[in-house]
Amino acid sequence: MNENILEVEHLTQHFRLGRKEVVHAVDDVSFCIRRGQTLGLVGESGCGKSSCARSIIRVYDPTGGTILLDGTDITHMSQKQLQPLRRKMQMVFQDPYSSLNARMTVRDIIAEPLLAHHVVKNREQANSFVYPMLERVGLTREHADRYAHEFSGGQRQRVGIARALVLQPELVICDEPISALDVSIQAQVVNLLRDYQQEKGLAYLFIAHDLSMVRYVSDVVGVMYLGQLVELCGAEEIYSHPLHPYTQGLLSAIPVANPALARQKKSGGVAGDLPSPVTPPAGCRFHTRCPFAKPICSQEAPCMKEAAPGHSVACHLYD
Ligand code: SF4
Repeated sequence: MNENILEVEHLTQHFRLGRKEVVHAVDDVSFCIRRGQTLGLVGESGCGKSSCARSIIRVYDPTGGTILLDGTDITHMSQKQLQPLRRKMQMVFQDPYSSLNARMTVRDIIAEPLLAHHVVKNREQANSFVYPMLERVGLTREHADRYAHEFSGGQRQRVGIARALVLQPELVICDEPISALDVSIQAQVVNLLRDYQQEKGLAYLFIAHDLSMVRYVSDVVGVMYLGQLVELCGAEEIYSHPLHPYTQGLLSAIPVANPALARQKKSGGVAGDLPSPVTPPAGCRFHTRCPFAKPICSQEAPCMKEAAPGHSVACHLYD
């Protein structure tokens, strides 16, 4: 059995815009996820984390690099070849409003993957999976014959999670699963995912746009900036010793509840706007916004290297 359920090596995803322009959505991103662990992938909107997720699940055909799912190279598999492997890898989408088919009942939404993967032969057999799954995600069997529009945002996301988990996948890609939910509901959904992980030992790739959201779910955190991974380390380490100036900026933007601590905190955030991924800056892509930029930063792109055991960063400050 492979130690890593997912290995992503030098993943690159470019999109053509007309005849000349190319969007550099993901450039040379590498990481792996161990069985039963959660990797939190963080960065501003437009940094490429969702493109990365969609390339991994093969909604897109990667431009370059390799994706190994449980040791099997799926990078260039056809959809037909991928079909049996999809049971191992499922996705929870950001928007619980548009990701559920409005014309299907909750029962049919959850039964669909069971039928598609021939786990059951008919809807009656599917009920033996659908009812326990509904209860597992905090809904009841009475909800089975309702339609998505009859639910709140939090309940819809629970249905989306039930659909992803019903096949007992080994990896679930959660693409900003709580961003569209009320703050009061976010913790409930995170707890649900975490409890299920402890019970079943599955792994998550958990995508979020701010570091506070991944803090309580991640074992490892990766920070992306303009299509590239700039820092990767254990979750505790990234909050206690952030190395990359971009990570430091993201952390300083997290609101602090304690007024005394808030006063001590440096005024936060990352100055300036994210440059266009069509024409990313030369050298270090963060140099146009970095308070520590040196002349080399606009000329030479820093490589990811280990600055401390288990802590990699792409920044000339640590050369
Ligand atoms: Fe800042 Fe230079 Fe490090 Fe980039 S390489 S983050 S510009 S110091």
